[in-house]
Amino acid sequence: MERQTFQKSVVLNYLKGVYTHPSAETVYLAVKEKIPNISKGTVYRILKNLVDKKEIKEITAEVSRYDGDNSNHAHFICQICNNIHDLMDFCKDCSILKNKKTKVGEINKYTVNFYGKCNKCSK
Ligand SMILES: [Zn+2]
Ligand SMILES: [Zn+2]
Repeated sequence: MERQTFQKSVVLNYLKGVYTHPSAETVYLAVKEKIPNISKGTVYRILKNLVDKKEIKEITAEVSRYDGDNSNHAHFICQICNNIHDLMDFCKDCSILKNKKTKVGEINKYTVNFYGKCNKCSK
């Protein structure tokens, strides 16, 4: 496998296997365990490339986070611990998403972020 393709597949496989929505820094540290000589710049470039190609999602939080699950789903972002949780069943019956139509046009994808305090931090 070509070096670049291999590096890209390691990044993508890592993202597909976690549900933590890691930051670029976290991705870099994880990928470094498999490819010790990879540079931070390379990992950042791969992430940007995967986002551009819509293979992963970028979540704009305080620091950008990445999601290997490209399906439509909403996120709950804890403002205290910064953990990001998936809300898969969000708005299942919401009329806008059911009909995929709004007054101004048709919806083909969506991004929704909720911000709050997670259960762990509320204890
Ligand atoms: Zn929390
Ligand atoms: Zn997600």
